[in-house]
Amino acid sequence: MKFITIDKKEWDKGIEKSKKSYDLFGPVKDKNGFFIKKLENNTLPQMEYHDSVMSAKSVLFPQTEKILETTLDETQVDHHIMKRAKTDYSPRAVVGIRPYDAKAMQILNLNFDTDEYKDPYWCDAYAATTFIGLGINKPGPCDFSTSTGTGPFNEDGLDVLLADLDDKYLAKVLTDKGESYLSSCGFVDTADDKESQVLFDILRKEAEKNIVSNIDTDKLKDKTILELHEAPFWDDIAFSCINCGTCTYVCPTCWCFDIQDETKRKTSTRIRNWDTCMAPLFTSHASGHNPRDAKTQRVRQRFMHKLKYFLDKYDKGIMCVGCGRCVKFCPVNIDIREVCNKMNSYEVAK
Ligand code: SF4
Ligand code: SF4
Repeated sequence: MKFITIDKKEWDKGIEKSKKSYDLFGPVKDKNGFFIKKLENNTLPQMEYHDSVMSAKSVLFPQTEKILETTLDETQVDHHIMKRAKTDYSPRAVVGIRPYDAKAMQILNLNFDTDEYKDPYWCDAYAATTFIGLGINKPGPCDFSTSTGTGPFNEDGLDVLLADLDDKYLAKVLTDKGESYLSSCGFVDTADDKESQVLFDILRKEAEKNIVSNIDTDKLKDKTILELHEAPFWDDIAFSCINCGTCTYVCPTCWCFDIQDETKRKTSTRIRNWDTCMAPLFTSHASGHNPRDAKTQRVRQRFMHKLKYFLDKYDKGIMCVGCGRCVKFCPVNIDIREVCNKMNSYEVAK
């Protein structure tokens, strides 16, 4: 394992230099908070952020994405043929991604990149991307990532993990991709491996001590789907939900989308857009039948998918990295931590 020291006085220059070889994305503040945006012109990542409103998911899986296009213009050679839309997959790097958001990319991989099916748009974007993580020295009150197999200094899904040491960053190089990115910045000053690892361990332990909330998941596997599906608490949980979909849009592990066609004169484009299982239209059939037409059914679906179906299907934990965004942004305070603990402790009355 290699460690590199980066003096913060050299940081801006190095990041700018890397733009010659990479399209960069990183945290940028606007009037609504921090968002992971493309860093164009002289924009630099604002690394003193706590958390972004939306995760970095959109760098690989945009909210709206052209996937196919065709033309009816018969003067064009390939008219009437649906072709893959042209997308730029030049090397890109997400600088300052939080460790739980990088871990969420691995969860999304289970849906988009499998032995049976490979989503070409996701796979090409993933292959083009380098993830430069930033450890969380002071986790916020909604963070429960240590109980979801992640944590403030987790390395899963990252190419580099940075630790903020006030006047410098200490970079732990985790992959060749990560090393190439740092060398494109001109960051090459190696640090002592043993001392650096000790420092990372201290920072991780300190940060983990600040995580004050957690969830219990140890008994979820033992319950049957039917038991949890028929549990009596779903109406109470769903009562205040207004089906706004916020919890799913801000979630780094939610992957649902819808496909629409748009036609303009002789050109037609097929687009996929994020969708949400919390919306009644999401499951509405062309026949008019809707298998989840009641709010309780939709709320139950969201939690059952994240905390039971996913767990049973993949045996890789729950479909949640504990970022706490859905807790923070739900307008009616529906809290996945409470729901998870209810599901975990539920026993069928004998
Ligand atoms: S954010 Fe809250 S109110 Fe909105 S759909 Fe999710 S659970 Fe319901
Ligand atoms: S379910 Fe909530 S806490 Fe879990 S990853 Fe999604 S937004 Fe974060």
